Amino acid sequence: MPKNKQKNIEEPIPKDLFDILACPLCRGDLEYTKDKKGLICAGCGAKYPIEEGIPVLLPPKGKSLKYYQ
Ligand SMILES: [Zn+2]
Repeated sequence: MPKNKQKNIEEPIPKDLFDILACPLCRGDLEYTKDKKGLICAGCGAKYPIEEGIPVLLPPKGKSLKYYQ
């Protein structure tokens, strides 16, 4: 059985970028999900996938961006 201990999972997003990310719905802080394959908003709980190291911050369908209102 392969060892499955991954104490130091690499951050998929560069810290510089991560620091400026915010939820497009509520502008809340984003955190990594447990497996670090996505982001979750601490404010509204919206989840966003990370694809090839790039966070996909599209609001769930049917929700509008507060930015533009
Ligand atoms: Zn949010």
